[in-house]
Amino acid sequence: DPELSGDFGEIMELADKFRKIDVRTNAETERDAKVAREFGAQGIGLCRTEHMFFEGERLVRMREMILSDDEAGRRIALDKLLPIQRQDFKDVLNTMIGFPVTIRLLDPPLHEFVPHEKENQESMAKEMGVSVDVIKKKVEDLHEFNPMLGHRGCRLGNTYPEITEMQARAILEAALELKAEGKPTFPEIMIPLVGTVKELKMQEKIVRDIADQVFKEKGDKVDYMVGTMIEIPRAALTADEIAEVAQFFSFGTNDLTQMTFGYSRDDAGKFLPVYLKQGILKNDPFQVLDQEGVGQLVHTGIERGRKTNPILKVGICGEHGGEPSSVEFCVKAGMNYVSCSPFRVPIARLAAAQASLR
Ligand code: PEP
Ligand code: MG
Repeated sequence: DPELSGDFGEIMELADKFRKIDVRTNAETERDAKVAREFGAQGIGLCRTEHMFFEGERLVRMREMILSDDEAGRRIALDKLLPIQRQDFKDVLNTMIGFPVTIRLLDPPLHEFVPHEKENQESMAKEMGVSVDVIKKKVEDLHEFNPMLGHRGCRLGNTYPEITEMQARAILEAALELKAEGKPTFPEIMIPLVGTVKELKMQEKIVRDIADQVFKEKGDKVDYMVGTMIEIPRAALTADEIAEVAQFFSFGTNDLTQMTFGYSRDDAGKFLPVYLKQGILKNDPFQVLDQEGVGQLVHTGIERGRKTNPILKVGICGEHGGEPSSVEFCVKAGMNYVSCSPFRVPIARLAAAQASLR
C-alpha cells in the first residue's frame, strides 16, 4: 500500500524539510509512475522506452523495423508506431503534471528484440511478405557477440535517425496534446550511451529539427530540454565538450560501473560472491556505488560539465539512485536529483535528508 500515512508519513514529511535534492523515479508505465507519485517522487528521472516494446503489436512493429533492409521499410514500421508511442508518452507525462519527465530514446540491446524462435521468424516472414530464409539471414546479420557493447543507444539513433525522429515527434505531440487540455508538462529528452560529443550533436539536431517542425505544424510550443546519459567513461572524461550541447546529465551508473570495472552487468554474478567473500571487493559495485573508480568519474563529469555549462542539471538514474550510501555520495557530489525505482523512493527521500543533515 503506497499510502504514506501515520508515523511513516510523518518521517517522510520531516525528511523533506531537510532534503536539498529532488527524488524522482524510474518508470515507464502509468502504474509505476502513479505508485511513485504516491511515494512522493518529484518527476521521472528515467523512462526506458525500449521497455515499452516487449509485447503485442508493438513488439511486431519493433521487429519489423529492425528486420527491414532500408529506411523506407523502417519508416513503414515507425509510422505505425508513432500513434502508439504518442499515447504511451501522453499516459506517462499525465502522471507527472507539473514535474519533469526524462524520456530516454531507444536503448535496446538489439538481441532482446531479434526473433530467434522458428515460429516468430515464420510470423515475421508472413507479416513482412518475405520468405523465412530472408528473415533467418537478417537475424544472422544482426547477431552481435557482445550486444551490451554493440549496436545500442545513440548508435542506433545515429545509424537509423528515423527512430529518433519518430520518438521525438511522439514525445512533443503528446506534450502539446496535454497542454491543450490545460496540463503543463516538462519533457526532458535524453540521449543514451553517448561517448563523444559528436554523437550527441547529431541526435540533438534531429530532436531540435523535429521540435521546430512539430511546433510549426501545431501552431503551439512546449518547453523541453535535451540532455544525455553519462554512462561511458569517455563521456565523463569529455564532459566539458558534452555539456556544451547537453542541458542535463543523468549518470547511468549501471553501465558506468560495467565499463569502469570491465565487469559484465549480466555475468558478474558468477564471480562477485567469491570476490566479496575473499574481500577483494567490499560491496557489489552494481548495488553500492564504488566511490573510488566510478565515483571519480562522476566527480570529474560534474566538474567538467559545469565548467562549460554552469546551469547544467545533474542527476543519477542507475540502480544506485535508491541505495542510501550512494544517495549520500550523490548529495555530496552536488547532484540536483536522484532517480530510483518506485518502491525505493521513500528510502531515497530519507537518505537524501540524512545526507544533507550530515
Ligand atoms: C544505467 O546504465 O545506469 C542506466 C540507468 O541505463 P540502463 O540500466 O537502462 O542501461
Ligand atoms: Mg545504461
